[in-house]
Amino acid sequence: MNQKRTEIKDLGEFGLINRIREKVTLKSKDILKGIGDDAAVFSPSENKKTIVCTDTLTEGVHFDLSYTPLKHLGYKAVVVNLSDVYAMNAQAKYITVSISFSNRFPVEAIDELYEGILLACEMYGVDLIGGDTTSSLSGLTINVTAIGEADEKKITYRGGAKENDLVVITGDVGSAYMGLQILEREKQVFKANDKIQPDLDGFDYILERILKPEARKDIIALLDKMEVVPTSMIDVSDGLASEIIHICKESKAGVDIYEDKLPIDPKTVLTVQDFNLPATTVALNGGEDYELLFTVNQSDYEKIKGNPHLTVIGYIKDENSGMNLVTRDRKSTPLTAQGWDAFIEKS
Ligand code: ADP
Ligand code: MG
Repeated sequence: MNQKRTEIKDLGEFGLINRIREKVTLKSKDILKGIGDDAAVFSPSENKKTIVCTDTLTEGVHFDLSYTPLKHLGYKAVVVNLSDVYAMNAQAKYITVSISFSNRFPVEAIDELYEGILLACEMYGVDLIGGDTTSSLSGLTINVTAIGEADEKKITYRGGAKENDLVVITGDVGSAYMGLQILEREKQVFKANDKIQPDLDGFDYILERILKPEARKDIIALLDKMEVVPTSMIDVSDGLASEIIHICKESKAGVDIYEDKLPIDPKTVLTVQDFNLPATTVALNGGEDYELLFTVNQSDYEKIKGNPHLTVIGYIKDENSGMNLVTRDRKSTPLTAQGWDAFIEKS
């Protein structure tokens, strides 16, 4: 960083909190108290149920600051939480953000992080209503808690899939993983020779998928407009295969997923070939797509058919049929979750 560097200690913890507070303008009229007291206060909407979820991103585990701009990181930290709220077929309303960081980070870095956080709040129509600020001995940790609401009748759980339901995925899968492969490759090149500038041309889409993912708020609105309530739903953070297995286990069901139906972006296909990886494995196990995976009753097929955001990739079967991938040559092989396990060291 070649810009101005202001030490956090010159501002103090409360100075920093105030600085954050000043950047926040509340949108929702339901908030009685946002940042600035011991706790936030808001009134719940009538006849709605409250949804809460939380997620932590840790430096060195979930992100690498050598290629992740802080603004993108702040944006992503919010988006991955909102994605969980949308996966319940709910609307996100509020977030709290807790940060923990060492003196390696100047005030300007925290400003940049909050630029991303507040941009996400703007884009998704949510309010930042509190948080916590602490110091750490090393590295940066960001925890976001999201609060949302939904009509009880519309809340979708992982456990509601029924035999013969259609399995639907939004957008495309595998692109975020390939974006990460590009970033890791360029990092290695740069490490070997810091005179070589990263070659990221033409990879905009897949890089954006990993660095600046979006949550599918639009799909929640679309489902509502189409009058479709999924029987089950989950967001794709660990990988499509792993998420399908979650739905099947919670629903006590089996599944057939068709290899030739998996939506893979052409740019992902090209990158996959470049890296000599099997496209199907990347699509099934890549992770961090933040798409929505859901099941619907067959009677809803007419409503979802032909929608460019939605792809039917299989059917729910009875539990005894197992969870299978039907390959292009019509062979059935068991689906396995090789998704990113947070506790397995990356090679
Ligand atoms: P306490 O000591 O009672 O926990 P804090 O000083 O941590 O209070 O927080 C004071 C207020 O500032 C609270 O409203 C809290 O939610 C808010 N806050 C603290 N840190 C952050 C942050 N990083 N982002 C947003 N709000 C924050
Ligand atoms: Mg506190």
